[in-house]
Amino acid sequence: MKKLKGIFIKNDYEVAILREANSIVAQILDLIQEKVAPGISTMDLEELANEQCSEFKVKPAFKGYQGFPYTLCCSVNEVIVHGFPTKDRLMEGDILSIDMGVNYKGFFGDSARTFAVGEIKTKAKQLMRVTEESLYKGIEQAIPGNNLYDISAAIESHANAYNCSIIKRFVGHGIGANLHEKPEIPNFVPKRAPRIVLKKGMVLAIEPMLSLGSDQVEIMPDRWTAKTKDNSLSAHYEHTIAITKDGPEILSKSNQDVGG
Ligand code: MG
Ligand code: MG
Repeated sequence: MKKLKGIFIKNDYEVAILREANSIVAQILDLIQEKVAPGISTMDLEELANEQCSEFKVKPAFKGYQGFPYTLCCSVNEVIVHGFPTKDRLMEGDILSIDMGVNYKGFFGDSARTFAVGEIKTKAKQLMRVTEESLYKGIEQAIPGNNLYDISAAIESHANAYNCSIIKRFVGHGIGANLHEKPEIPNFVPKRAPRIVLKKGMVLAIEPMLSLGSDQVEIMPDRWTAKTKDNSLSAHYEHTIAITKDGPEILSKSNQDVGG
């Protein structure tokens, strides 16, 4: 694999495997989406995800990664990311962010979505919508010749326009034969932002996390669960994309998406 300033450039064969890996993640998230409802527990969803990994003959990417104990990250309401599945039942009005990764033939898929549990408040809907839209605004900038931070700037300006806070502590990343590769993709333009030119063959996991209140993060005693300090609601959307000569291809695209 070619490397450019520390960033792996994937060839068409490698992108094809990454496409399959991410399609599997999308299909599993679609199945999970159908099950999310008041009364179900995130541990039920974890079991479903494990069954599906066996079905698809893929390895869960997160289980065991730096000691993370589960296949899914299940982050409810004020939890931003890295929440553990539990036997607690989801309640009407909750929002649930699920992040999932798999390893397929040595390559990784990684995607996250936030789901509404039953009827949710208008504010929560707005947060979900703005976070997802900011992801797509970022993806639109993933064009050969653009600067990496054009992605960050698009996410940042969309979040700001709707008064959502950007959780700066967590960033997107390159992905390929490793779950996390260079470059880091912040959801804002950092003070020192050297020009990093985007090239065909780069594969990126772009993942804005926004909140309705504080951007400050508190890590719970389990050493993983990251929640907003002021307990405000938080949402998370992530797609893995490949940069092609014609622009971004969303590898983790759901079959249920219309348009995009
Ligand atoms: Mg992820
Ligand atoms: Mg990721």
